[in-house]
Amino acid sequence: MLRLTDIKLPLDHAEEALAAAIRARLKVGAEAIRGYSVFRRGHDARKRGAIQLIYTLDVDVADETRLLQRFADDPHVRPTPDTNYRFVARAPAQLPHRPVVVGLGPCGLFAGLILAQMGFRPIILERGKAVRERTRDTWDLWRKRNLHPESNVQFGEGGAGTFSDGKLYSQISDPHHYGRKVLVEFVQAGAPEEIIYVSKPHIGTFRLVTMVENMRHTIESLGGEIRFQHRVDDIEIETDADGERHVRGVVLANGEQLRTDHVVLALGHSARDTFDMLHRRGVYLEAKPFSIGFRVEHPQSMIDRARFGPQAGHPLLGAADYKLVHHCRNGRSVYSFCMCPGGTVVAATSEPGRVVTNGMSQYSRNERNANAAVVVGIDPNDFLPYDGSGSPLAGIALQRHWESRAFELGGGSYEAPGQLLGDFLAGRASTAFGEVLPSYQPGVRLTDLAQALPGYAIEAIREAMPAFDRKIKGYARPDAIFTAVETRTSSPVRVRRNESDCQSLNTRGLFPAGEGAGYAGGILSAGVDGIRVAEAVALSIVGIPQAI
Ligand code: FAD
Repeated sequence: MLRLTDIKLPLDHAEEALAAAIRARLKVGAEAIRGYSVFRRGHDARKRGAIQLIYTLDVDVADETRLLQRFADDPHVRPTPDTNYRFVARAPAQLPHRPVVVGLGPCGLFAGLILAQMGFRPIILERGKAVRERTRDTWDLWRKRNLHPESNVQFGEGGAGTFSDGKLYSQISDPHHYGRKVLVEFVQAGAPEEIIYVSKPHIGTFRLVTMVENMRHTIESLGGEIRFQHRVDDIEIETDADGERHVRGVVLANGEQLRTDHVVLALGHSARDTFDMLHRRGVYLEAKPFSIGFRVEHPQSMIDRARFGPQAGHPLLGAADYKLVHHCRNGRSVYSFCMCPGGTVVAATSEPGRVVTNGMSQYSRNERNANAAVVVGIDPNDFLPYDGSGSPLAGIALQRHWESRAFELGGGSYEAPGQLLGDFLAGRASTAFGEVLPSYQPGVRLTDLAQALPGYAIEAIREAMPAFDRKIKGYARPDAIFTAVETRTSSPVRVRRNESDCQSLNTRGLFPAGEGAGYAGGILSAGVDGIRVAEAVALSIVGIPQAI
C-alpha cells in the first residue's frame, strides 16, 4: 500500500476526481490501481475564493516496489505505515491484586479499556456519577443554580470532556499511532466513521454521552469493574528497606480500603482535594504553567464569512473555527483556546461559590454564536502573590482567588460576570447587550471585567483584541461578549513521572496520567496517554523491562 500526501482538489470535485488525481500523481493507467481509501481529508482556506480539499490517500497498487523506486525522492509518495494497534502483554492467569484506575475521564477510560482488553480486569474508581445521572446534575446548575460538587462538568463518567465540543485532534507527537486506536475505539462505541479521516474531527456532546456508556459496557464485559461515587481520599504507601516508596492500596471516601500495587492516577485538572492529599503523602508534585482569561462570543456567521468568504456554509467545511495568537509588549502571550464553533458557553465550576467558564457544542454546531477562550499564559512566578510558600499547589490558590472573584462579580448566584468587548477596551462597565447575546446559563451579569483578572492579563487581552481583529475582520466588534473567568485551561500541577516506565518519580506503582498529571491536554491526548500508561502498568505487572 502506498500513502500519497498533499493531493489537492477543488471543494466541489466529483468522486471520480480522486482516482484521476491518483493516476496523474503516480503517472500510471487505471489498471495499475487496485483500490484506494481516504486516510485524511483537510482543507486549505487561505484563498477564500478558491478553498481546496487536501487529501492523504492510501492506494493499493499492482507494482508497489517499482513505484516506490520511481518516487524514491518524493516525500509525498511513501509506503503506508502500519497503524494497527498491538497489545504489549497478556495478563497472567493469576493476578495477586488487580490494577486500580482512579478517574473515568478519557484517560482513565482508555487506561481501563486497554488493561481490560489485555485481561488485567482493572477496577476503575470514579468520584462522580454515571453519565446520565451526571447530565441531570450538570443541567441543575445551568438551569436552577444548584451545584453538585461531586457531579458536574468536571466530575463524573466521561470526565471533563463529556459536555464539550468533542474536538478529537491534537498536536502531540504520536509515533506509536495510539491516536488511531482512540479514534477506532470511539467509532466502535458509536462515533461517526468520519472521525477516522477528517483532519479536525469533532463529535459534540450528545454522542459522547452514548459512546462513554458503550465503552463502559465493553470494559465490564471484559472483566473490568467500574464503581461510581467512589472517591479516592487516600493512598497507602510502604517504604522498603532501601528507602523506596511503593503503593500498597487506596482508601475510599466511604472508608473502604482496596489493596493494590498499581494505581493509575487519571484525575483531571480539577481534583484539587486529591492533589492536596498526594502532596501530604509526599508524592512528588510541581507547579506548572497554565493560562487564564475570558470566554468570548461572536456571531458564528461572522466567523464563517471571515474564514470561508463566498464558500461559507458549504457542508464539507461546516462551521468555521479559528486559532489566534498575539505576543504582547508586556512579554505575555494571548491566544485563543478550545474554540467551539456554533456552540455555547457553559458553567464549569466544581466548587461552591466559584464561577468558571468553558465551551461546548453539539455535533451539528448550529448554535448562533462562536465561542473561544481568550487566555494569557502564566507561570509559577505569577502564583506567588496567592501562595508565597513555594507550594506546588500555589496555582490552585490563584485559580480559586479569581474564580471566587468571578462569583462575586456575577452577583453570587452562579451567573457569570460579562462585558461587551468595546466597553472592555474603553475601560467602562457595560450596561446593555448589543446584537450578540450571551449563551452562558444560568445567566450573565454585565459589569466591568477589569477587576476579574490580574492587571497584566487585562492589559495583554486589551492589546490582543485589535491584533485579532486584523486577522478576523470584526473580531473586536464592540458588542462581542466576554464572560469570566476561564481558569481551568490545563492542570496547574504536574505529578511528575519517569519517562521510561511512567511511574511517579518517588513512588513505585503510582502511574500519574492524563491532563491532571500534566501529560495531556484534550480528549485525544488524554486517551493516548491512558493507552501509554496502561501498557506501562501491564509491563510492570508481567515483569518485562520496557522502552515505550
Ligand atoms: P478528566 O476528563 O478531567 O477526568 C478525570 C476524572 O477523574 C473525572 O471524571 C473525575 O471525577 C475523576 N476524579 C478526580 N479525582 C478523583 C478521585 N479522588 N477519586 C475518583 N475519581 C476522581 N478537550 C478536547 O480535546 N476537545 C474539546 O472539545 C474539549 N472541550 C471541553 C469542554 C469543556 C466544558 C471542558 C471542561 C473540557 C473540554 N476539553 C476538551 C478538555 C478535555 O475534556 C480534557 O482535556 C480531558 O477530559 C482530560 O481527560 P482526563 O481523563 O485526563 O481528565
